[in-house]
Amino acid sequence: MNKSKEKKEILKRPPEFDLAILGGRVVDPESRTDRIADVFVQGGLIKKISPRKAKGKSGPEVRVKEVIDAKGKIVVPGLIDMHAHLREPGREDEETIYTGSCAAVAGGFTSVCCMPNTEPPIDNQEAVKFVYDKAKEAKCKIFCVGAVTKAQKGEELTEIFDLVQAGVVAISDDGKPVSNSQVMRNALEYCKMFNLTVISHCEDTNLSSSGVMHEGLVSTTLGMNGIPSVAEEIMIARDLKLAEFTGGRIHIAHVSTQGSVDLIREAKRRGIKVTCETTPHHFTLTDDAVKTYDTNAKVNPPLRTRKDVAAIKKGLRDGTIDCIATDHAPHSVEEKEVEFDFAPFGMVGLETALGLVVTELIKKRILSWPQAIAKLTTNPSRILNLKSGRVKKDFPADLTIIDPKASWIVDPAKFKSKSKNSPFGGKKLRGKVCYSIVDGKIVYP
Ligand SMILES: [Zn+2]
Ligand SMILES: [Zn+2]
Repeated sequence: MNKSKEKKEILKRPPEFDLAILGGRVVDPESRTDRIADVFVQGGLIKKISPRKAKGKSGPEVRVKEVIDAKGKIVVPGLIDMHAHLREPGREDEETIYTGSCAAVAGGFTSVCCMPNTEPPIDNQEAVKFVYDKAKEAKCKIFCVGAVTKAQKGEELTEIFDLVQAGVVAISDDGKPVSNSQVMRNALEYCKMFNLTVISHCEDTNLSSSGVMHEGLVSTTLGMNGIPSVAEEIMIARDLKLAEFTGGRIHIAHVSTQGSVDLIREAKRRGIKVTCETTPHHFTLTDDAVKTYDTNAKVNPPLRTRKDVAAIKKGLRDGTIDCIATDHAPHSVEEKEVEFDFAPFGMVGLETALGLVVTELIKKRILSWPQAIAKLTTNPSRILNLKSGRVKKDFPADLTIIDPKASWIVDPAKFKSKSKNSPFGGKKLRGKVCYSIVDGKIVYP
């Protein structure tokens, strides 16, 4: 058959694929793929990944409904944020599951885990059902984290079996620590039965007390109450001991100090089932950001020192730190526009995370693309037992397409999130999201 006749034949056939993403650099950490390839999607699933052969030798033509030219772009599994606060129910003025999902896909995230410290907290089956019901309208996949204790009071365990049945992917009292060691021990032991991870917000509240920023030279100079590094480290040390004792799986949220990284590195060496995450702000900013009294730089755990940032980067590089999560914490302007001491902790992060990873870690050669993407896809997926996070045949077509060269200026006013509390306004970032795709559907732009 000659060429033109072949083409006519192909045009007569019904389309074989819904979507083709052509000529991008496909980075899939799980299969150790990092090469130029075409990805074909049908019925919401990845159906074919064909590596590009030598120049000029493209494979047989196929009919597709929609084509994305990904030349010069990077195609990765849809990013997973394993730690975000979407504020619904209770503070829908700050964020909802829907607006949070819009911010997520604009930032390249196709899966988001929402923390249970809502009003009321997600501590029972009905509450989990409420979240999953709202999630039906979301632009991305929402996974619910359930509370460790009833009303997050730190006293009585929730009905963990009920929560698992309702579909939680982990449990956490994030926002607060589980201060009672016996309660944490029981949580770890129960979760072992369900192969469920306990996500721990490590803070000794007696030590952090009335602190509003990192305790150190800057807090002394500013005359503000400090939160010492040891407030985080002492709880991590306890949790590691409990994980070792029970054989349970602990995941340490938002690691921020050098001492924390060292403790976790050593625990991993000893075979304790521990994983951890850090946030883009903890590897980007130091307590210097507080000098302007910008309440958007008030976070918990606080921004630490240059030495801590270096240790976090080292931990990311040597694999001690498994994941990068946003700890997206929306707050209204009214709440944040008060004196530093009275402002709530937290900053939004879904729409700047990828740009900060590219700018601060990849461009500065701390991490390679596959290493960075693993911390945003494969690793959280493994920790939470999700089906997302890979570019693999017959797996959900959750994909993010990134322009690694594009640069942009952060403008919080343009955020899709309902809240704008970011200290990164005006910062120039590299790496821009071109497309976010969930179950084969383009959800962004
Ligand atoms: Zn926390
Ligand atoms: Zn949090």
